[in-house]
Amino acid sequence: PVVTRFAPSPTGFLHIGGARTALFNWLFARHHGGRFLLRIEDTDRARSTPEATAAIFEGLRWLGLDWDGEAVSQFSRVERHAEVAHEMLARGAAYKCFATKEEIDAFREEAKAAGLPPLFISPWRDADPTTHPDAPYVIRLKAPREGQVTVEDKVQGTVTWAAEQMDDLILLRSDGTPVYMLAVVVDDHDMGVTHVIRGDDHLTNAARQSLIYRAMGWETPVFAHIPLIHGPDGAKLSKRHGALGVEAYRDMGYLPQAMRNYLARLGWSHGDDEFFTTEQAIAWFGLEAVGRSPARFDFVKLESLNGQHIRSLDDDALMAELMSFCAAQNIVIDASRREALRQALPGLKERAKLLPQLVDLAYYILADRPLEPDEKAAKFLDADGSATLARLTPHLQNASDWTAGKLEEIVRSFAEGEDIKLGKVAQPLRAALTGRAISPGVFDVMETLGKAETLARLGDVAP
Ligand code: GLU
Repeated sequence: PVVTRFAPSPTGFLHIGGARTALFNWLFARHHGGRFLLRIEDTDRARSTPEATAAIFEGLRWLGLDWDGEAVSQFSRVERHAEVAHEMLARGAAYKCFATKEEIDAFREEAKAAGLPPLFISPWRDADPTTHPDAPYVIRLKAPREGQVTVEDKVQGTVTWAAEQMDDLILLRSDGTPVYMLAVVVDDHDMGVTHVIRGDDHLTNAARQSLIYRAMGWETPVFAHIPLIHGPDGAKLSKRHGALGVEAYRDMGYLPQAMRNYLARLGWSHGDDEFFTTEQAIAWFGLEAVGRSPARFDFVKLESLNGQHIRSLDDDALMAELMSFCAAQNIVIDASRREALRQALPGLKERAKLLPQLVDLAYYILADRPLEPDEKAAKFLDADGSATLARLTPHLQNASDWTAGKLEEIVRSFAEGEDIKLGKVAQPLRAALTGRAISPGVFDVMETLGKAETLARLGDVAP
C-alpha cells in the first residue's frame, strides 16, 4: 500500500510551494487508495511556533487536503531518533567521534592547503573503542569512502555522487539531540512511508538519507524530487509573483477547488487538460507525468481557472463557498438577502473570476437604499437618463404581473413608444437599480427586487 507524507517545518505560513508539495503527495496517495500522512518537523525549537503549526493545519484544511490519522510531531520522537543512532553504533555503521572543533578546523585548513576537498575525516572512524576518552562525543555515520552513492529518482532519473564527496555525517550531537537528516529517515521508516515526494532542493539530502537507510538495513522509499516553482519570468518566485501563504489566496477570493486544479498543473500535466475537477486529478495523477523543468506561476491563468470553477460549481455549493468567504471577511448578510443572493447566483456567477467580484456584482442585493452608484453607473444617471426613467416609472407602477418576462414587455413597448433603443432605457434602469454598469439581466434584477423596492430605487434617482 502506498503511504506518502507532507513534512513541513512550522516556521511560517503554508506557502504556495509547500501547498503544491502537499497536493502532489495527497493526489498520489488518493490515486492509489493509500494513506497521506502529516508530520510537523518541529525539531528546531527556536524557529518552530504553534501559530505556524496552526496555520499549516488551517491551510491544508481549506485546500481540502485531508491527512490520515493524527499529525506527527517530529520533536516528540527525539528519543527514538537517538535510539536509532545508538543502534547504528552497535551495528558498526556509525562511530563515536571525540574530535574537538579546533581539531576539525585544523584538519580542514590542512586539506585545503593540500588542494583536497575540505571534508573532515575523523581519526575516530576506525579507532579502538577501548581507547575512547571520557569526553563529549558526537555519533557519526560511517559513510562509504569509495564508489558511488546513487539515488533512483522518479522525476530526476538516476543521480549519482562520488562517495568521497560525502563526509561522515553527524547523526547525534554531543548533547544527545538528533540531527534533522536522521530524524527524517527514522520517521519516514517508522511511519511506513513508501514514496517521498518533495521539492528538488532536497535531492542531495536524499543521497545522504539513503546512506542511513542502507546502514540500518531498511528499504529506501521511492524518491520523487519535483522542480521548484518559479515566477512568470523564470526567476525565483517572489511575493509579487505569488510566493504567498495559502490564506492570502483564500482572502483574495480563490476557491479551493481552483487552487487544487491550478497547483496540480504546476509541474504535472495530463495531456492538454487545463481545467479539471479534483476527482479527475485523483484519477489521472502519476509521477511519470511530473516534468523536470521548473513550473512557472501565472496569476492570470489562476484567475481565469478560478472563474471557470465559479461557473461550473452548482449553485448550492457556490453559495456555501461564498458564505464561508463572507464570514471570514466579516461581510454580514442577513437571511432574507441570503435567499435573494442564492436566487440571483446563476446570473452573477457568469461574470465573476474572484469571490469579491461576486460580492460586488451582488451589490444591488446586499446594499441598503439609497444606493451609491459607481462612476460608470453614475454616467447613465445623467439628466437624460433620469428623465427617461421618470417617464418609464408610471408604466411600471401599473404592472400587475411582476415577472421578468412581463417587465421586459413593458420596457420594450415603452422604448418603442418613445422611439429610442432599448439600451437607452435599460442602461439607466440598471444603473438606478444596481448602482453598477454591469449586472445580471436587468429584468431578472427587477423580479428579484420586487415591485416596491424597484419603484423605491427609481424614486431615489428621480430628477
Ligand atoms: N521539513 C522539510 C521542509 O519543510 C521537508 C523535509 C522532507 O520533505 O523530507 O522543507
